[in-house]
Amino acid sequence: MERVTVSMDDALTAEFDRLIKQRGYVNRSEAVRDILRRFIETDRLEQHQATHCIASVSYVYSHHERQLAQRIADLKHGHHDLALASLHASLDHEFGIETLLLRGRTEDVRTCADKLLAERGVRHGAVNLVPLEGAVQRHAHGIGSKVSMHTHFRPKT
Ligand SMILES: [Zn+2]
Repeated sequence: MERVTVSMDDALTAEFDRLIKQRGYVNRSEAVRDILRRFIETDRLEQHQATHCIASVSYVYSHHERQLAQRIADLKHGHHDLALASLHASLDHEFGIETLLLRGRTEDVRTCADKLLAERGVRHGAVNLVPLEGAVQRHAHGIGSKVSMHTHFRPKT
């Protein structure tokens, strides 16, 4: 690990320390690393350099909206290659909140998330998209399994 020294004026340092305290970071280094990761990965996404990603897509929707629950289920099944899991909680008799985990090519994940969030009756949609990089590995998984070539995906930063 490299040590990086940063010069900042007093006003900026005071604001930074206020934010660190408010957000509960243990120290400046952890906060700086977090900010840099977000900055770097946002840039990577904007430059279309993130070919693969994992994303959580959250939204609130109404069960009373005509056939919406069915349309959402159809969309998830239509993208079963991307949809890893979903979590649902009912807010009341009408509204529910759902979080869907998607993993795959960034372009496909975006298209799927956009379609979901654009459905009539889906509101407060938010996407947390984390770029991943793939590395081809050659090993076995678990007792009795054969050695195989496969890709592992992990966050780059
Ligand atoms: Zn493996």
